[in-house]
Amino acid sequence: MRAFLVHQGALYHSECDGSRPHRTAVTELVRGIWRLFPGQALSLLRNRIFVDRPLSPVCEGMIKVAAKRFEVVGPEEWDSRFTSFTGDRNLVTLPAISTLTHTREPPSGAIEELLADLKLKSDGFPRVSSVLLDPEGKVLLASWSMTASDRTAHAEVNLVEAWFTLHSQSVPSGSSLHVSLRPCAMCAAQILALTGIPSGLRVVFHEEDPGPASKNSCLVPGSDLWKKAGSPDWRAWPAVTQDE
Ligand SMILES: [Zn+2]
Repeated sequence: MRAFLVHQGALYHSECDGSRPHRTAVTELVRGIWRLFPGQALSLLRNRIFVDRPLSPVCEGMIKVAAKRFEVVGPEEWDSRFTSFTGDRNLVTLPAISTLTHTREPPSGAIEELLADLKLKSDGFPRVSSVLLDPEGKVLLASWSMTASDRTAHAEVNLVEAWFTLHSQSVPSGSSLHVSLRPCAMCAAQILALTGIPSGLRVVFHEEDPGPASKNSCLVPGSDLWKKAGSPDWRAWPAVTQDE
């Protein structure tokens, strides 16, 4: 998959071979911009993002949260469209840089306490935390949001990135992911990438999100992104439950 956007004298582009389920050309482009140009990211990402195929839930969730507009350009039109924008612009290639920051293996403890503890370290933004447990309830990984310098650095995105940096496969079947707040559209699609089979992961959120970010995520049965999320098997996934 390929993606680009044009801003003033430069064309920012990315490619992705699809070898990691949580990464697409769109995530490489958007996250790469936040990592490398945090001061200009907001104005850069106001520009239309051109992509060479229809958006997956991972792409669409990322655009909903961290960018603005997109246009799908068919593969037959791609080269001429790309060339028409190139001109004498600088070409900037963006890989999203993998990082293990904002994640750790915490000591075991009650999930509520772990989530609360991870929420405390504040960078001035409301903090969200998440904890991944194996089928026996052992903590595999924990993460928190750090959105001051990277709008895409939500707790779940950080956790998924860390998981696939440390492991080359899905989380063990029967794992559960606890999140302090209902996942937004971007994070929901990233969470889906964590598991290879529909029943492989239980997602539990501990607080309802009063804002619009999570309303139409692929974890909300019946939403457009849920319908797009893949096979009927995926759509039958019990998706997400609220902690009682
Ligand atoms: Zn999120």
